[in-house]
This record gives sequence, structure tokens and C-alpha cells, in this order.
Amino acid sequence: MHRNAFELLTATMLSAQSTDARVNMVTPLLFERYPDARALAAAKTPELEKLIVSTGFFRQKSKSLIGMAALLIDAHGGEVPADLEALVRLPGVGRKTANVVLGHALGVPGLPVDRHVLRVANRIGLVRNDDPVKVEAQLCELLPPKRWTRASDCLILHGRRMCKPKPLCPRCNVRPDCDFFRTGVVTNPPGRPSTRIAPSPYKRASRGVGARKGPARS
Ligand code: SF4
Repeated sequence: MHRNAFELLTATMLSAQSTDARVNMVTPLLFERYPDARALAAAKTPELEKLIVSTGFFRQKSKSLIGMAALLIDAHGGEVPADLEALVRLPGVGRKTANVVLGHALGVPGLPVDRHVLRVANRIGLVRNDDPVKVEAQLCELLPPKRWTRASDCLILHGRRMCKPKPLCPRCNVRPDCDFFRTGVVTNPPGRPSTRIAPSPYKRASRGVGARKGPARS
């Protein structure tokens, strides 16, 4: 949980190659010790590393966090800027992190694209691309800005719970609108041939293979 944009930015940077649960274990003590950019910019590296070691890649993360905080002090008066271009100039901050902070802490529309968004949006057929920047642009084209952050959240949750790398299609409510379910084909980006992953569940059902058994209908 975060109380302001600085805390969300810091927690999101820590979440790279880690889990929310692990980040949530370190942030209470971290924010008690470094409550703002000024405190974090003055952090002693060994002390900071010790606090965040369990999130992995702690040396690089420590360097990025101190650099991020220092630039917030130098260029933004210690505040997190509500601007994508300014955010991605901070050390260790990419578009995904910047969009998370914009959308969830600063009230600015942002559409973070992570591996779940990439996978689910391509399977459903909303986009045909594996470049996160292009997918972000394509999804933003499809939706009004006020929907961007919520749409990303939905795709991420759906990717974690249902449309996993091995998708749980039989339990999924998106089936009628999903290219992958209808065709069994993942639509790859232009220039790359589409990939047949599995027989379409529709076709399997029509052949009687895997068709759901149930009471006879009159
Ligand atoms: S039907 Fe299957 S592939 Fe399509 S969104 Fe649902 S889980 Fe993913």
C-alpha cells in the first residue's frame, strides 16, 4: 500500500523481478527510515541495500532509488512529476513504472503494459504486437483516457488469474470475444506468421471432443 506518489514510485521500482508480497514486507520499514526524496537521496548504500535485499537485484535497485531521489530533489523540488517524459528520465524508471505512478497516484491517465497485458491483449485480439510501447499506443487508441489505467489493471488481473501462460479458457467469461479461444491461433505481430497453439475449443466441441456433458435438451 502507498500513501503518496513517492511511495508508489519507490515500491514499483522495487517490484521489478520480485513480488508484491515481498515488496510489501520491506516497504513499512523502508518508508519509516526514508519517508521522502530528501531522506532517500541521502541514504547510505549499505544501509539501504540491507533493507531491500529480499526483493532481489538489491545493488542495482539501491543505486536507482538513490539516483531517482536525487534527481527528484534537483529537478522537481523533491516532488514526483506528473509527466511521463519527466518520469522516464529518472534512474531506474521505465514507461511501465511511470504509467503506474501516473494512473494510480497522480490522477493522470496512464496504461502500464507488463507481460500480462501483452499476453492477454494479443490473445484476445485487441492488438497484434509484442512491443510494449506499441501495444500501449494501440490500447490507448482503442480506449478513452479515463479507461486506460483500469483497463491495464483488468488485463493484469485477468492474466494472473485466468489467462495465464497456460490459459484456463473453459472457465473464462471472455471466450465469446477472444480470438485465441475462437480460432486456437495466437495472432502474432505483422510480418510474423500466426501460431496455432491448440485446436479451437469450438472446433473440438463441434467434433464431440471435449464437449461438455449435460442433460439432454428438448
Ligand atoms: S478465452 Fe482463454 S485465451 Fe481467451 S482471454 Fe480467456 S483464458 Fe485467455
